[in-house]
Amino acid sequence: MLSQKTRYAIRAMQHLADRHGQGPVPLSEIAETQNIPAKFLTVILSELGRQGLVASQRGRDGGYWLALAPAAITYGDLIRIMRGSLALVPCASRYAHEKCTNCLEEGKCRTRALMLEVRDRTAELLDSIRLSDRIDSVPPFAASDSDK
Ligand code: SF4
Repeated sequence: MLSQKTRYAIRAMQHLADRHGQGPVPLSEIAETQNIPAKFLTVILSELGRQGLVASQRGRDGGYWLALAPAAITYGDLIRIMRGSLALVPCASRYAHEKCTNCLEEGKCRTRALMLEVRDRTAELLDSIRLSDRIDSVPPFAASDSDK
């Protein structure tokens, strides 16, 4: 399952994608709209900044914006940068590999082989969806949403 940190990072990046081209977005707006604790959000945004996905400006009119166009960032990139695991079982995880109790030999375990394939297909799908792509069932954030 994706970690809470990765899920927050995705939500923050979706918000910045919705506001792309509109100047710096205040941290408080992202935190409030996306329901992310402000302290945790600061850490996540600076990590995304170090990875070259987010730019920022300090000061009264400061805030954060995407350093790349939303069409240049895939969900796969984002999840990899946050080292999020896509595996359904820990032994199929690249970054958080673990064995379950009473493990079979990995090379002989069909469950693991199947879950490696599920992980790889999931990664392929996430690599094909960009931050600029609409998620049809949920409309993007509009500035008027923050007035509600
Ligand atoms: S039993 Fe199979 S699924 Fe469980 S940890 Fe071992 S290899 Fe992975």
